[in-house]
Amino acid sequence: AKAMGRGNYQFYSEEMNARTLDRLTLESGLRHAVERGELQLKYQPQIDLADGAILGAEALLRWQPAGQQLVMPDAFITIAEETGLIVPIGEWVLRTACAQQVAWRQAGLPDLRIAVNLSARQFRQPGLDAMVARVLADTGCAADRLELEITESVLMERPDSAAETLQRLSDMGVQLAIDDFGTGYSSLSYLKRFPINALKIDRSFVRDIAAKRAASNDDGAIAAAVIALAHSMGLTVVAEGVETEQQRDFLRQLHCDQAQGFYFSEPMSAAALEHLFIQGAAS
Ligand code: C2E
Ligand code: CA
Ligand code: CA
Ligand code: CA
Repeated sequence: AKAMGRGNYQFYSEEMNARTLDRLTLESGLRHAVERGELQLKYQPQIDLADGAILGAEALLRWQPAGQQLVMPDAFITIAEETGLIVPIGEWVLRTACAQQVAWRQAGLPDLRIAVNLSARQFRQPGLDAMVARVLADTGCAADRLELEITESVLMERPDSAAETLQRLSDMGVQLAIDDFGTGYSSLSYLKRFPINALKIDRSFVRDIAAKRAASNDDGAIAAAVIALAHSMGLTVVAEGVETEQQRDFLRQLHCDQAQGFYFSEPMSAAALEHLFIQGAAS
């Protein structure tokens, strides 16, 4: 809609914020985002493909600067990473997500697993394991209810120190997942050296295998092989970005364990997720 009069300013200023939020504006805003309480988490349910039960949720970060439009992570995570702001922001995410896990449990929900994304910078931060241990102790979240998600590229950079970091987290009982699998360069067998629990198949891969199923069996065969190999390594397989019933059915046929995606649910507020369970229990 076209704004008029004094609304004009508002219109163009919003437009600018949406499109051209320049680096400096983002950076200085982000610097105060935690203390100003402008960060929030959405939670996307993770579904058991066998029976449709919600097993857990992935915490996804949003930034709501006062009087401005909601900023999605793709617009600010890189800057947070480059400036190092991801370290305090990431700690806030972890603390908030773990506290939420406990709050859900106390509200009578099942003991959900909470998945939290770790960026490369956070992963390399000295004392990561101590920080995680502190947050778990402070919030009362059980270590095995927390799953940390890292991408393959983070592991590939410095595999030896990555393996040590993962081992320390694993020794604490924290669950570890490889995020965006299929977009990187590594093979499953390469991942054998890391103490990981789960593999999250990237949504581009999910889209491809389901779309090409009718035309050729090759992609389906590759997906089936990946899932079977992951299972033989004791990994849980989670499909990301499941948007259609067809994709869900196909993944089920391939014995994929869990799924996440708009077909089941978009990322939602903690209260909305809680509501899902209350509704479910009542019906
Ligand atoms: P990701 O970890 O791969 O998270 C999944 C993204 O896919 C989320 O986008 C989610 O909303 C979206 N998604 C879920 N289901 C579907 C679907 O069915 N179709 C489509 N098209 N998309 C779907 P979001 O929330 O915008 O997050 C983008 C990325 O930002 C995340 O990708 C993650 O890499 C990063 N991120 C988000 N929160 C955090 C955080 O707390 N810390 C760090 N370091 N990174 C984060
Ligand atoms: Ca993720
Ligand atoms: Ca992902
Ligand atoms: Ca991603």
